[in-house]
Amino acid sequence: MTIDLDALYVDLHRHPELSYQETRTAGIAAEHLRGLGLDVEVGVGQTGVVGVLRNGDGPVVWLRADMDALPVEEQTGLAYASTETAVDPAGNTVPVMHACGHDMHVTAMIGAVEQLMVTRSEWSGTVVVLMQPAEEYGSGARSMLDTGLLARYPKPDIVLGQHVAPLPAGMVGLRAGTQMAGADGLTITLHGRGGHGSRPESTVDPVVMAASTIMRLQTIVSREVDPQKVAVVTVGSVHAGLKNNIIADKAVLELSLRYTDDEMREHVLAGVDRIVRAEAAASGAEREPEFHTDHTLPPTINDADATSRVTAALQRALGEQNVVDSGMVTGSEDVSWFARDAGAPLVFWFWGGADAAAYAAAVHNGTVEADIPTNHSPFFAPLIHPTIDVGVTALVAAAREFLD
Ligand code: ZN
Ligand code: ZN
Repeated sequence: MTIDLDALYVDLHRHPELSYQETRTAGIAAEHLRGLGLDVEVGVGQTGVVGVLRNGDGPVVWLRADMDALPVEEQTGLAYASTETAVDPAGNTVPVMHACGHDMHVTAMIGAVEQLMVTRSEWSGTVVVLMQPAEEYGSGARSMLDTGLLARYPKPDIVLGQHVAPLPAGMVGLRAGTQMAGADGLTITLHGRGGHGSRPESTVDPVVMAASTIMRLQTIVSREVDPQKVAVVTVGSVHAGLKNNIIADKAVLELSLRYTDDEMREHVLAGVDRIVRAEAAASGAEREPEFHTDHTLPPTINDADATSRVTAALQRALGEQNVVDSGMVTGSEDVSWFARDAGAPLVFWFWGGADAAAYAAAVHNGTVEADIPTNHSPFFAPLIHPTIDVGVTALVAAAREFLD
């Protein structure tokens, strides 16, 4: 090993950057990839980096790591804790922390590429390294793809990625099928007719329309979805009116929808559309409601065949007891756009960063939720060892499964 991965991780952790501001991180990643002999393009989808390692004929493997940090004030107490601040898109100065562990993703990727270079006489094919911006906005993968990525780079036979998680360090968790939920953010505008609060008969009241709509939307999950399946309909925000004696002319709802597969997504979206339109009609609205999709994160679905191959490779590399099915996660990721756009299989796994003894004690006491900090917590602090090594080993083992 010539690259000091510990030092790289500590440096990235100390200097986290918000989504689409990852210029320092991207610069460091690009420098390492160039140093390892890859062809590198920077500024892909604003701040993304693509590196290509050509090593003869064979499969094309896309390896993806995300780079952005979060507006969280670090409270880990680590010697290398972040004290950085940055200006967010709203113009506010905010603290910044690698609270989702994307610094670990970048570090493990650089380590894995180095190992693949060192062992290149043992495999053949092409590795495309994607250093993605703005995963936390749910838009970084799309930003990279929308630069014509698939036309400009070798198309993948497989897309691989990993995320550090609150599992015991040394362990890897993955499953075939839905690994993470999909999510849609919707903004819905209900149009009424405004007027005087004393004369409701002259108006179409959007507050009553919104109230009725919000309650009826709850019946999608409770009455329309198979109780054995998972879906979420949350109305996270509702805004209407400014004053008690004025009936407003519109109400704006913001919804978060979660689902485990594309079929469920269609089902939930159709239910929302039907109920919102029907409640507007029931209120006597003169104008149709308006729908705006703020973001769509498809469910992260692991290909069954590729997942069984990767699982076997991880078991060989890390020990059978260290590879588990850690369950479906209701959080969401944008990694699957790469596989979906390319029509290629995806395998995405979690790897642990939590102290194994502390984790075992928390399991024993039934206090895992309280004692083991999760991603996005100000206390999230993956161990440097063995987390970096396991991340490198997992990525190399999975890639070599297809390249050997
Ligand atoms: Zn995150
Ligand atoms: Zn993340």
